Amino acid sequence: MKEITANEFETEVLNCEKVIVDFYSTECPPCEALAPKLDGLQELFGEELKFVKIFRQRNRDLADQLFVKSSPTLLFYENGQEVCGRLSGGVKRSEILREIKHLVEPENFKAIVNGIEPTITETDVAILGAGPGGLTAGLYLCQARINTTLIDIALPGGNVSTTHMVSNYPGFIDPQPGYLLSHNMSEQTKKCGTSYKVAVDVTQVDLEKKEIVIDELETIKAKKIIIATGTSPNRIGIPGEMEYKGNGISYCATCDAKYFVDKEVVVIGGGNSAIEEAEFIAKFASKITIVHQFDKLQANKIAQEKAFVNPKISFMLEHEPRAFKKAGDKMIVEVEDLKTKELKTLTTDGIFVFIGLKPNLELFKNKLELDPWGYIKTDEDKRTNIDGVYAVGDVTSKKYRQITTAIADGTIAAISITREIDK
Ligand SMILES: Cc1cc2nc3c(=O)[nH]c(=O)nc-3n(C[C@H](O)[C@H](O)[C@H](O)COP(=O)(O)OP(=O)(O)OC[C@H]3O[C@@H](n4cnc5c(N)ncnc54)[C@H](O)[C@@H]3O)c2cc1C
Repeated sequence: MKEITANEFETEVLNCEKVIVDFYSTECPPCEALAPKLDGLQELFGEELKFVKIFRQRNRDLADQLFVKSSPTLLFYENGQEVCGRLSGGVKRSEILREIKHLVEPENFKAIVNGIEPTITETDVAILGAGPGGLTAGLYLCQARINTTLIDIALPGGNVSTTHMVSNYPGFIDPQPGYLLSHNMSEQTKKCGTSYKVAVDVTQVDLEKKEIVIDELETIKAKKIIIATGTSPNRIGIPGEMEYKGNGISYCATCDAKYFVDKEVVVIGGGNSAIEEAEFIAKFASKITIVHQFDKLQANKIAQEKAFVNPKISFMLEHEPRAFKKAGDKMIVEVEDLKTKELKTLTTDGIFVFIGLKPNLELFKNKLELDPWGYIKTDEDKRTNIDGVYAVGDVTSKKYRQITTAIADGTIAAISITREIDK
């Protein structure tokens, strides 16, 4: 892709017909993940659109002027005007295509997309999910000189990357920011030589044939597959939840607590995540009300003790949310007192929901043997019921779901596979 500077912005972008501008930085994993996607799209749409990149750190004034605050950020221009939506972070190929569709004549777009040749990539091991479990498996396999491809629908890191602080990961005297811990895990595995396909759409998985289709165009054929897809937050399933998700209701304190400086917040849940994340939110918010269905919290004792003495945190035990609503810029939570059945109304600035997690198995659960809670059953070497398919980490049936248990699983699966492949 052509590199331009701020001085060339007018001639290379504003005075041209249709241009895609990529503001990138160095030492930026999402920028590295985006670059090959843009190269591929330039090959396809190079006749219709111009693709340029601008190094954000060296063109900071222009970036500030355009309100580009993070890397990568993709901007779309038509005849000197910014059009379409901006894309940033872990940008998927399908998202860029969606914007390109607005810029290119419909017939040309259709002809180009229909002409895309599917590709096949062969690898020894394909790992679905680049959280701690998948990254550790990738590291061990790579160090055993086994050709490995890590595939993730998001950027690497898994749930750790959205955890504020991790204080129980051995080897560090002080608590570590989750994003840093996961970044280091990912860089260690990448440095070894594991191939990464991240921020992709995983559109099809055939566990028996060991074939994974990404972005609807690339088939990855493997000898073995490791499923390390982890978990996602449970939804409560009450009126207003989907409507206000991301717009008043959040499932990630690390991502959103900063928007609640001196504001009031309701936290739903009473387990470890709810109480530890409420502690974190209390650094920003002025008042936190924890709504929990039981008469006791389920969080560990240390977390509970901290929360009980925090003057910003109060509790509504034996209460359950029944509906979320919006009134102007305030959120309304309707809660039921489970003892008296009385319906109460809480008015707040934001709502955080931490009521447990569910396994990410949508694409392949019908084929796998699961436990009664829907997690994948494995043997002690992390093999599933399907030959050559392993599962590790939080997605598997186990008692304790932690970073240390996920990386232990990744280690075991990788060593088991190494022995089998070496036979
Ligand atoms: C709020 C919170 C705080 C926590 N705090 C701690 C803590 O302090 N200490 C601790 O030890 N543990 C903590 N945990 C638990 C810890 O994060 C998990 O045990 C650990 O991340 C599990 O790792 P994993 O690799 O199994 O899965 P995950 O970390 O969940 O990673 C799974 C990866 O798979 C990807 N994926 C999902 N679906 C697909 C698909 N179809 N195809 C490809 N990729 C897919 C996801 O994008 C993700 O990157 C916390 C968890 C949460 C939610």
